[in-house]
Amino acid sequence: MADLHGLAQALKQLDDQLVNCMRCGMCQAVCPVFAQTGRETDVTRGKLALLEGLADELLKDPDAVNDTLNRCLMCGTCQANCPSGVKVLDIFFQARAILTGYYGLSPVKKAIFRGMLANPRLFNALSFIGARFQFLFTKKADELLGSSCARFQAPLIADRHFNTLAATSLHARTGSLNTPAGTSGLRAAFFPGCVVDKMYPSVGLAVIKALNHHGVGVYLPANQACCGIPVLSSGDRQGFNRLVEQNVKLFADADCTALVTPCASCTATIKELWPEFYDGSADIGAELRRLAEKTMDISEFLVDRCGVAVFEPVPGASVTYHDPCHLKNSLGITRQPRQLLESAGAHLQEMEDAGTCCGCGGTFNIYHYETSKKIGSHKADCIVASGASTVTTSCPACMMQITDLLSRRQSGIGVRHVVEVYADRL
Ligand code: SF4
Ligand code: SF4
Ligand code: SF4
Repeated sequence: MADLHGLAQALKQLDDQLVNCMRCGMCQAVCPVFAQTGRETDVTRGKLALLEGLADELLKDPDAVNDTLNRCLMCGTCQANCPSGVKVLDIFFQARAILTGYYGLSPVKKAIFRGMLANPRLFNALSFIGARFQFLFTKKADELLGSSCARFQAPLIADRHFNTLAATSLHARTGSLNTPAGTSGLRAAFFPGCVVDKMYPSVGLAVIKALNHHGVGVYLPANQACCGIPVLSSGDRQGFNRLVEQNVKLFADADCTALVTPCASCTATIKELWPEFYDGSADIGAELRRLAEKTMDISEFLVDRCGVAVFEPVPGASVTYHDPCHLKNSLGITRQPRQLLESAGAHLQEMEDAGTCCGCGGTFNIYHYETSKKIGSHKADCIVASGASTVTTSCPACMMQITDLLSRRQSGIGVRHVVEVYADRL
């Protein structure tokens, strides 16, 4: 796309959706970014107005619109609370793709999305090497959380406290699995997602333990690619198509009752974004819709399909639960993770604002770390005030963000996935 007029014409295709916004401003009350910056352009209404202005050629500054559009967690809170039912995330994903078409994908993103993520063998090999040598650049920060920080000043890492790559990834521990349905008569395809595979293999092992316990056959194919959400969020529709096609080939003939994931972002991506934004072959599109119907968050599958075991309460220790945006806002799942915790005998101590964003937002955390920290600071306050000794959630990306928040405070509070707490009792 060469010129501004071409860009405006491409944005015109969003008109039908943009017109649904009544400019009522209800999104102001719920947008975590607006709560920190107070800038009208940071809230949905403002972003939609900028897109309209660019489409109508009233604005001539695509750089400013692009910057503003990227200052968004894609948390979906505005969409979930919009009285006019504006499909905000759809609009933002499409607009990002159009703007990326205008600017072109940066060489770094091209190398990461189309070189590394689309090549699981290379991604696995690089992670393996990274896990061996990361100690040269990192030092331990918090024993309980297993977090580290940078040994030297590094602009991208800043003062972050993070979980390093696991010494042995999930796929290296388990290999591929293909076991028949057991006593339950169910068989689940398992999509761990790259963060669980490479950083939190204990979460993946907990999923497998729980499925085995409930007599569920497991199909875990090798060489799974990323679900594609970071690629789609950056507007790279071609890279997204490629990742979706790679994954669907692995799962198409799996003969499984459900496809389960312990990653809220992966669940929402496979269920909603794969069928909606894939625009390649019609046959694959049909397969994606079938797969989407079968896709379930792991706690949803265990509670609703397996009938979870109920254990005696554990005396003393209490847990609190943070709702990941992709589970709560996109899929409306809030009951099952809590039920899973209670089944495990955990004393659930609800925090205030359990359903507000932790501030991670995928690449938002990389490009807008200061705002991300401010949003997360409220979440950390709520976690501490709950009095719980462990905070649980259903998304590895949230686990990373919350680990950073709590480790920098040396709060003495642990971070775990709900399925780990459940698997501990099996
Ligand atoms: S809540 Fe919905 S309709 Fe109201 S201003 Fe925000 S996006 Fe527009
Ligand atoms: S998706 Fe989240 S961060 Fe983005 S505008 Fe909506 S509420 Fe704000
Ligand atoms: S959503 Fe996040 S964790 Fe899940 S596959 Fe995509 S990048 Fe990996």
